[in-house]
Amino acid sequence: MGNFTGYQCSVCGKTLNSDYKGYVCPECGGNLNVILDYEQIKNTVKPEDIFASSEKSLWRYLPLLPVSDPGFEGTALHSAGFTPVYKSEPLAQKSSVKNLWIKDEGRNPTASFKDRASAILIARAKEIGAQIIATASTGNAGAALAGMAAASQWKAIIFAPKTAPQAKIAQLLIFGAKVILVDGNYDSAFDLSVEACDKYGWYCRNTGYNAFTAEGKKTAAFEIWEQILCKNKSEKPLNIFVSVGDGNIISGIHKGFKDLHELGWLPVMPRIFGVQSEKSAAIFNAWAAHTETITPVNATTIADSISVDLPRDGVRAVRAATETNGAYIAVPDESIYEGIAELGKIGVFAEPAGATAFAGMKKAIAMDIIGEEDDVLVVNTGSGLKDIRSAMIAAGQAPIIAPTMDALEKFLSE
Ligand SMILES: *Cc1c(COP(=O)(O)O)cnc(C)c1O
Ligand SMILES: [Zn+2]
Repeated sequence: MGNFTGYQCSVCGKTLNSDYKGYVCPECGGNLNVILDYEQIKNTVKPEDIFASSEKSLWRYLPLLPVSDPGFEGTALHSAGFTPVYKSEPLAQKSSVKNLWIKDEGRNPTASFKDRASAILIARAKEIGAQIIATASTGNAGAALAGMAAASQWKAIIFAPKTAPQAKIAQLLIFGAKVILVDGNYDSAFDLSVEACDKYGWYCRNTGYNAFTAEGKKTAAFEIWEQILCKNKSEKPLNIFVSVGDGNIISGIHKGFKDLHELGWLPVMPRIFGVQSEKSAAIFNAWAAHTETITPVNATTIADSISVDLPRDGVRAVRAATETNGAYIAVPDESIYEGIAELGKIGVFAEPAGATAFAGMKKAIAMDIIGEEDDVLVVNTGSGLKDIRSAMIAAGQAPIIAPTMDALEKFLSE
């Protein structure tokens, strides 16, 4: 916490002290960036210290975080992050790129990227003495908060659309959160949760609203740095593909790389590519129109985790691509199902939003944005077990035969 010195508004640039009690900029409503004291970090820690850490979770990056260690060692809260990266030769060859890695966020304790943010939010809640944390969620942010809260015996209240996939709702209930299903979409759950937090004094974890979620999500960038960039040492930038809904994951990853760059620990900044479904493309639209003004859409994609009318972190999400020489890609939902099937064939089970990033990479290759000499990393943001309905559509049906050798032989010969 000692390295956390305050906030700066991402829109108007206003700075605020670290004891500011609000969530967004009091002047313009913009999202706040957490400011860290890079000099102090540089004086107290070296990359080698981090590489030597025995902590196999995002807490290995504690010196670069704006919170102190919340404790709860040996629980799910203390094992969020530090997910594996898989290198796939077959998929690299098939896709015609030099190297291809998949970072599998499905391996987090509640099976999505959101555990990173929720773990940090519990630490922050503990520091400020907030006893109840509430969030709006399409499903995963809620499951992550509920899971991390259960691990630390905190209280969580979750607002989710009643149409969220069953597996995600089951997680919320199993983790013992107070679950409020809203007869409306994610955007309506978001607005209601903000009003409720104001009225009842609950600590609001909402994505693209609470400044600390991006600080949790940035730890994925630290891992990519440690797991790939420090080992591979390529002069060419790594091309990172990530799916985008509210735009907080992509903003968080961008922040992580900016932290490392400020510290002088990252010579070559990666290029960051945001991928949206054509049926939920508000940030893609803004990027394509060369503006930071986000115009809401009517989102209808099957990738529920990125189905957002009005993205809450759009400005920073646009910048993650423009400031790193990346781009935005919009893909049809059919290619998301294809992506689930293709990732499955290298042993990665992705939910639709996770496969969206992969579909975007394929499209970027087809558009010649990515070429044969490029290194690519795709972030699978969530496990396929989160949404088996979509998985079954992607996989097709299994044959059913009579339990006889005759039937088997007939089937095999067909
Ligand atoms: C939340 C989520 C996303 C999108 O993250 P944003 O911060 O909303 O852009 C992508 N994939 C999965 C699986 C998610 O849960
Ligand atoms: Zn502002």
